[in-house]
Amino acid sequence: MLCSSCDQFNTEIAIRSPPQLSRVAMSVRQAVAAGVLRYNSFESDRELTEQRLFLELDLQGALPDVLRYQFDCPTCGRCYGLFVETYHGSGGRWSCTGQLPPNNSFKPTPASRVDLIQALAGPEPRRGTR
Ligand SMILES: [Zn+2]
Repeated sequence: MLCSSCDQFNTEIAIRSPPQLSRVAMSVRQAVAAGVLRYNSFESDRELTEQRLFLELDLQGALPDVLRYQFDCPTCGRCYGLFVETYHGSGGRWSCTGQLPPNNSFKPTPASRVDLIQALAGPEPRRGTR
C-alpha cells in the first residue's frame, strides 16, 4: 500500500555516526512539525522510560547514547521507529516497524476527540420549523 504522506520515510536507514543521527532526527522532527508523522509518546515511553521527549532533544548537542522513539503516520497508520544504541557500538536504525491496529484500541482517546464525538452524536434540540 502506498501512502503519499509518509512514503519518503518508508525506508530503512542504518545510522552509523552522530552527525548522521542528527540529520535523520532533524528530518523526522520536521515531519512531525508538518504533521506528516506523529510522535507516539505512549509507545516511546513503553520502549524506554525516563528518556527525554523527542521534541525536546537538543539535536545540535551531544545526543544520549540510547534512544528509542516511535512514530506513526496519521494518514495510513504505519509505525516507524528511531532506535539508537551508540553505547554498545551497534549504531542506530530508522525503519518501518509495523502498522497501528485499525481500531487504535490500545490508545486512550484524547478528551477533545471524545467531546467532538459526543457533540456529533448528541441529540440536537429541534427548533420549531413552522
Ligand atoms: Zn502514511
